[in-house]
Amino acid sequence: MYIQQINPYEILDRITDAFFALDREWKFTYVNKEATRLLRRNMQQLLGKCIWEVFPEAVDLQTYQHYHMAVREQVSIVFEEYSPPLKMWFEVRIYPSPNGLSVYFQDITENKRSSSKREQHYKSLFENNPAAVYSFDLEGNFLSVNHAMEELLGFKEEELLQMSYMPLITPDEIERTKTYYSHAVKGAIQHYETKAVHQNGHIIELKVTNIPIIVNGEIVGVYGIARDISREKRTEKMLLESEKLTAVGQLAASIAHEIRNPLTSIKGFLQLYKNKMKEINSEYLDIMSDEISRIEMITSELLILAKPQAHYFRYERVEKMIEDVVTLLGSQALMNKVNVNVQLDDLPMIHCIASQLKQVFINLIKNAIEAMPNGGEITISGKKHGSAGIFIQIADQGVGISEELLAKIGTPFYTTKEKGTGLGMMTTFKIIHSHGGTVNISSTVGKGTIIDLYLPISEDKN
Ligand code: ADP
Ligand code: MG
Repeated sequence: MYIQQINPYEILDRITDAFFALDREWKFTYVNKEATRLLRRNMQQLLGKCIWEVFPEAVDLQTYQHYHMAVREQVSIVFEEYSPPLKMWFEVRIYPSPNGLSVYFQDITENKRSSSKREQHYKSLFENNPAAVYSFDLEGNFLSVNHAMEELLGFKEEELLQMSYMPLITPDEIERTKTYYSHAVKGAIQHYETKAVHQNGHIIELKVTNIPIIVNGEIVGVYGIARDISREKRTEKMLLESEKLTAVGQLAASIAHEIRNPLTSIKGFLQLYKNKMKEINSEYLDIMSDEISRIEMITSELLILAKPQAHYFRYERVEKMIEDVVTLLGSQALMNKVNVNVQLDDLPMIHCIASQLKQVFINLIKNAIEAMPNGGEITISGKKHGSAGIFIQIADQGVGISEELLAKIGTPFYTTKEKGTGLGMMTTFKIIHSHGGTVNISSTVGKGTIIDLYLPISEDKN
């Protein structure tokens, strides 16, 4: 068999890695072609020369330390290094031998460039993400947060990086959230909703995804992605509420309708009785007819509430309606030692259903009178709002409404009064909204309540 004798250095010339050998005085004893190309020196400039003289700048790089360590401790070392004068990244493998050092190296500048590009790709996905993105260690301490996360919670990055997620979660949600987190730490992606406290104290509802961070097959932390769903939650609640209202309204209408007819006949017969039997104690009859009037009132409120009645929108004067209502309720106000003070600017006519708006003013003024069992003053004022609408304000000096109660006002049948129907405010809201307006209530317990109505001149201009 014929075996070709080849010079081992020829092999080194053919390999794609750059290679050179140094003797114990750091002088080049061999340099392959690839090495001369990468180092941008020819053979004469290298062979027999000391590497630290040819490349003095390398003395300041890791290279110098690594070479010395490899020789001193007779270990092979692999490292990556950037050479500023050559503007290149190298992967270097050095192997010591009794005669010196063998050095293999490769140009990895391209790889470095594309991996740093890739890193920047990911980084911009993280930093510019409109969703809040963040990462935790296994204990739940923040390791990174993006800008959207700072916005979401109102805390600065520096502050968050000193925290764990726990103080941010509301007490009622913490146990559930911890459970989800512990599943994520064990490797299972989690989707859940929770509540966090904003730096300003507000509670925000969040939809969260937790994703385990896996490095070399090991879970080292958890990524989080969070979105503020407070607004969606509110809309959902409102939708539910409005569905409930529609159902209640429909039910109310049919009940009201059923009650009204028998009521009319009872009332008629009662009147007949009263006229005929003067001698029996009419006090009971009075109570009966009062109670029937009350039932009638409830049914008519229910009907207004449920049905867009066959009234038409017309341009009408609000001043006139308010004056009428104040006159109507005058005796009730007097009986309760309530003074009604009306201050209306010259208001434009507005497109409305007068009977419904009157109903609103009756409801609100009655509530105001009823809120002042020991008397007081009601101030009704009205002014123009540009050319688009009017503001009407009804202020009393009554018992006021607590914050808790305020949230319930307008819920059907919610009343704090022994003889209340709990329908007045609901009807009011419904009428004002159907006119394209808004109702705003502000109240201080013990001081009084202010109801602000806004009504557009024409509801379809809204
Ligand atoms: P009702 O008057 O039949 O109780 P409403 O819907 O008109 O029903 O009012 C609901 C509740 O709202 C009242 O029971 C009362 O507690 C509260 N409320 C409404 N207006 C006022 C007011 N001006 N001052 C204090 N409380 C009020
Ligand atoms: Mg009322």
